Amino acid sequence: MFYCQNCGAKIEFAGKFCSFCGFSFEKSTNTDEKDARINELEQKIARLEQGQVKKTASSSFSPWMAILPIGFVAAFLGFFALIIWIVRQ
Ligand SMILES: [Zn+2]
Repeated sequence: MFYCQNCGAKIEFAGKFCSFCGFSFEKSTNTDEKDARINELEQKIARLEQGQVKKTASSSFSPWMAILPIGFVAAFLGFFALIIWIVRQ
């Protein structure tokens, strides 16, 4: 059971027209279909955007995640080697 969008009468059985004012419900169902399609497209766009964000994040972060610790350790060892070399002289 639902209410007519035009006259507000209670509709017991879902038909194409309101039995009280003759208002066509086909328009409303069409807009619902359009809304559903728009929602689907919005969800697809959101998924694509999320995928792009994930892709860019992984492509920009994964090399740095590997290079940064190695570079840090190499610089640390080089610094220590330099100090030992200076102290021994
Ligand atoms: Zn009506």
